[in-house]
Amino acid sequence: MADSDSLFEANLCSDTIGQDAPELTEAHEPLILIVDDDPGMRQSTLDLLSVQGYNCQLASGGNEALEILSQLKIDLILLDLNMPGTNGQYVLEQVSNKYPDTNVIIVSGETTFDNATNALRQGADDFIRKPYASDELIKIIHNVLDKRNLQQKVARMHQCLRASEQRYRFIVSNSPDIIYMLDQKGHFIFINERATTLLGYTPDKIIGRHYSKFVHPDDLEKAKFAFDERRTGMRSSQSVEFRLLCYDNKPIRYFESHTITIELNAMGIYEEGTALENFFGTYGVARDITERKRAEEVINFQLYHDLLTKLPNRALFRDRLQLAVSRSRRNQSQLAVMYLDMDRFKVINDSLGHLAGDQLLQTVSSSLQDCLRDSDTLARVGGDEFNLLLPDILGRDDVCRIAEKIIHKLREPIVLDGYEVVVSFSIGISMFPGDGEDIDQLIKHADMAMYHIKGHGKNGYEFFSDNIKSLYQQHISLEQEIRRGLNEEQFEVYYQPQISMVDNRICGMEALIRWNHPDKGLVPPAEFIPVSEESGLIIEIGSWVLNTACAELRQWIDAGYEDITLAVNISATQLRQPTFEEIVIQALNQYQLPGEQLELEITENVLMQDIEQAVSKLQSLAKYGVRVAVDDFGIGYSSLSYLQTLPLHTLKIDRSFINEIQTSKSKNTIVTAVIAMSHGLGLDVVAEGVETEVQLNYLKQLGCHKTQGFLLGSPTTSVNARKLLEEQRNLCPITFKSANVTNIAPAIKIQKFLDI
Ligand code: C2E
Ligand code: MG
Ligand code: MG
Repeated sequence: MADSDSLFEANLCSDTIGQDAPELTEAHEPLILIVDDDPGMRQSTLDLLSVQGYNCQLASGGNEALEILSQLKIDLILLDLNMPGTNGQYVLEQVSNKYPDTNVIIVSGETTFDNATNALRQGADDFIRKPYASDELIKIIHNVLDKRNLQQKVARMHQCLRASEQRYRFIVSNSPDIIYMLDQKGHFIFINERATTLLGYTPDKIIGRHYSKFVHPDDLEKAKFAFDERRTGMRSSQSVEFRLLCYDNKPIRYFESHTITIELNAMGIYEEGTALENFFGTYGVARDITERKRAEEVINFQLYHDLLTKLPNRALFRDRLQLAVSRSRRNQSQLAVMYLDMDRFKVINDSLGHLAGDQLLQTVSSSLQDCLRDSDTLARVGGDEFNLLLPDILGRDDVCRIAEKIIHKLREPIVLDGYEVVVSFSIGISMFPGDGEDIDQLIKHADMAMYHIKGHGKNGYEFFSDNIKSLYQQHISLEQEIRRGLNEEQFEVYYQPQISMVDNRICGMEALIRWNHPDKGLVPPAEFIPVSEESGLIIEIGSWVLNTACAELRQWIDAGYEDITLAVNISATQLRQPTFEEIVIQALNQYQLPGEQLELEITENVLMQDIEQAVSKLQSLAKYGVRVAVDDFGIGYSSLSYLQTLPLHTLKIDRSFINEIQTSKSKNTIVTAVIAMSHGLGLDVVAEGVETEVQLNYLKQLGCHKTQGFLLGSPTTSVNARKLLEEQRNLCPITFKSANVTNIAPAIKIQKFLDI
């Protein structure tokens, strides 16, 4: 066997190594059977072949030959025809029937042409006449054995090919991917069975049809790119993702198709730069990536949406706004950005619980969406904050209509957990072009406008304007100034006396913050408390006031004014602090104060905002004796039943009611009712803002316990407050005679007042 031949054969058969490899007939030294009834002939042939190196067996007749054939694997028979008994013809017949792999050379004295052709027809490989020339016999034997070798090789190759084809067919049919081949026009010429499991089509429904019949219409361009383009060299392999249609409208599946453009030229060999007319078609593998795609879609959705409301999130909103701004620049159209913030969401969330809060956000989101066009984008950008993009609007009127529609729609009560809730939104609007050059500015300006409407009564909408911007900036700079003020100790606590109607003595002091602003002078709390509340600075300010005032109370007690109650105002944000009770208790401990001498003033509205947490916090402070006063009582909305739930000690009638008392004959039913009620509930009652003697006498008649107001003392510095206490001790007991005092410095005022 030639070297190259054996290499070829080895390569071919290497495919079959491993499973299912067929057994192959191995090449070996040939075994020759010499069949002749003439012993001399037998021996001489044996001698001749032995010299040539052949292995031989001898048989003296037909029967013996058949016997040997049944036992040994004979490669070649040298067969005499004329033999007594079983003759050569019969043996030849048996060999061609039973031993097709055994070659036969007739060695006979028969010389007729007929005999020779008969023998060849019956399967003999050659014929030689006796007596023969040795050379001639050897030559014939060589020829037959060579031919036999070749035939065996071919047979082995066929065997290998068959096995290899079986293997590949198995691989292709059982591939987890679709394997296909398209002709140069894009018709399927091959597809494996995987197409049936994945798409539902049997291969015969696909073969011969154009690929475009199976590709999702939106993905046809991508498919064309993969299948139609004639590429060569490095570019010939393509990987594209697209969707294929399933049989019978089953859900569409995603595929990642790796296709290779097939090119055949005359030689069947690929050549760089081959002419494109040799394009034969496309071969490829399509992998089902539906699950991966779905997972990607979920992740993508989560990245760009708010999971509670399923609305776009801030990132997606910004992206859409960016596109809309570019389009608006190009088309010279207008767009609007709305910043919507739900009013009092926190109160609802805190009082009804987070589940109800979530439900409210979902309901509100879908109500908002009902007011919008398909092209609008509503996004949830924070807890209760939404951004709305309105592209292609005609002008402000258009936007006003949508804002009004939203406000109107949201007026409908929403039932949550059995409670009817009415929500409202503060909406700020910015327009492009006009209110900003980029998306950040547009969003910021809409936010500023929203902020403005929030500060002006809520539940409405406002367009951004330069005025709003400057107010906003003032607000921001005020916030910064407050911070600086805190660092630079520009704040001071003033004290306003509270007078007991029983003995006309100062029984308490209310701590009221003041800001000694370096440029603006003394700034009243109304101008900085709301900003401090919004920014959270009130936490720091509040603690500072509490500590400063407690330190002051310690001094009063140390100076012998032991029965003075200190009233400190507490804001909503402070009360909401989780550590609120600790802060109060720590202040008491630090200055070793009895809780009974500290009264926390909390406005009616703040208490009502979250009655449950107020009750629990104030109750735990009540264990330390800390008193609680309802400040500005009467102006808020409150249910009277909570008065009994809360650990209360004092009601402070708002000064607006006191102000209404103009004459001694005034009929101020609210004041009368509040005083009567506090008697009934066993609470102290303080009248705030007492400015005239008429008011004072009126309140005294009704049995009001304490008063506070300019008449008896304006808020004053700690030094003056101490003086007041000192004077009171010196002048004891105090008797009120008549009063005709205007608003003058408190210490002097009381002095003067008492002098009369
Ligand atoms: P409030 O707690 O109701 O305090 C009483 C307010 O009425 C004080 O105003 C006081 O100066 C004023 N006032 C007292 N007597 C009279 C009077 O006869 N006539 C008139 N017209 N007004 C009178 P002020 O000090 O400007 O404080 C205003 C509000 O600011 C306070 O109302 C309180 O709610 C808040 N506030 C003051 N200090 C603090 C503080 O340290 N923390 C907190 N959270 N709020 C404070
Ligand atoms: Mg107060
Ligand atoms: Mg008040």
